[in-house]
Amino acid sequence: MNDKLKFNFYGGAGTVTGANFLIEVQGLKILLDCGVMQGETIEDRTNRSPFPYNPEEINYLFVSHAHLDHVGLIPRLVREGFRGKIFSTPPTKDITEALLIDSLGVLRKEAKAEDKPALYTEEEVENAMKLWETIPYRQGIKLKDDLTITFRDSGHIIGSAMFEIFHAGKKILYTGDLGNSPSPLLNDTEMVTDVDYLILESVYGDRNHASHKESKEALEDIIEDTMNSGGTLMLPAFSIEKTQEILFEIKEMMIQGRIPLVRVYLDSPLAIKVTDIYRKYVDYLNPEAQKIFSKTKNGEIFSFPQLVQTLATEESVSIKDYHHPKIIIAGSGMSTGGRILHHEKNYLGDPRSTLLLTGYQSTRTLGRILQEGARTVKIMGDTVNVNARVVTLSGYSAHKGSDDLLNFVNATSDKLKKVFVVLGEPKSSLFLVQRIRDNLAIDAVAPAYREFHLLS
Ligand SMILES: [Zn+2]
Repeated sequence: MNDKLKFNFYGGAGTVTGANFLIEVQGLKILLDCGVMQGETIEDRTNRSPFPYNPEEINYLFVSHAHLDHVGLIPRLVREGFRGKIFSTPPTKDITEALLIDSLGVLRKEAKAEDKPALYTEEEVENAMKLWETIPYRQGIKLKDDLTITFRDSGHIIGSAMFEIFHAGKKILYTGDLGNSPSPLLNDTEMVTDVDYLILESVYGDRNHASHKESKEALEDIIEDTMNSGGTLMLPAFSIEKTQEILFEIKEMMIQGRIPLVRVYLDSPLAIKVTDIYRKYVDYLNPEAQKIFSKTKNGEIFSFPQLVQTLATEESVSIKDYHHPKIIIAGSGMSTGGRILHHEKNYLGDPRSTLLLTGYQSTRTLGRILQEGARTVKIMGDTVNVNARVVTLSGYSAHKGSDDLLNFVNATSDKLKKVFVVLGEPKSSLFLVQRIRDNLAIDAVAPAYREFHLLS
């Protein structure tokens, strides 16, 4: 029996997005995540280039969590012949389906502009769902006599998992994305010990965040300032986790009388849907959030009288007719598309208004361009002057900062043989590699695309 485990680094080696790794062991081919590269558009050439393996030969796909850069290419994988089984936690499956269907609108538009068929169809999403099975945390899936994979809570978004892979007396841990614990809604990242090989994310490998507490106080100040000056607060929020976390905190601030009782628009069909999925899986939230939930009726944990959910396009368009101070939460989180673009076009020119960035902004995205201080930007063909304040609150990040990543590695094992640093921009990954080597005296590398390592 060949008991070598071959770990192939494809998408996510040297990049933040496009997570895609392949394990070959005991005659099986197992994919870990299958995400899109996220840049200016999803309609990026790299998302159409051939897979570096034959999808027909893949036996299993394990999905760490429901972010597009971890799931966005699954329908294409199925179209190109994948017929194996897909595994994730139950919330990941539900949110992925909502996310993939929601993304179709943007994909169709982008593809049409380039005169191509969309990256995938609704039917292909449905076909993927038919292959999908769900497994809770900490319940191992035995794939072979000597090969088991177990999900552990990574605390990044609801249902997010790390994969603990047991093979030939060794333990390999793939982190997926690691949460910025403590989070107001989620459990802390689970501790995993006795790891031999670690595949580690590094989005913020070279930076630390402000504390969540500081950022929450800053959010309160920004809401107050913007509302008092009569402006609009635009929150390009990721529909999954960030939106629910911010709704949860705005509700708390209103109840405690710390911010004015202004109208809050949740202007994102996806976020509205995902918030319902959060209500369905309350048992995946932390005990404190569960307690608050149990005291409220019917999932009021995320809603309050000032909240207006605008599902239909006409409702979204009419937000601009409400001429009072207001908060608008809309996608996409990096301003790469979606309804936030209309609001940015309407209010970025207004010096009383604020654009608040709370998450990672990928290179080349409008969010990143604004974050870097552009004074004029192009939005849907129009030139827009930026007179509004643009503020970044790093404490709302859903990813661990550099120190926390290092602490995570340190707590993982005293027998770590090697750390493979992935899912980061090169400068971030390489900085973390150096810190792991220098501070922890553990071998670490940032593998290149198509590099593979034999782990056994
Ligand atoms: Zn993620």
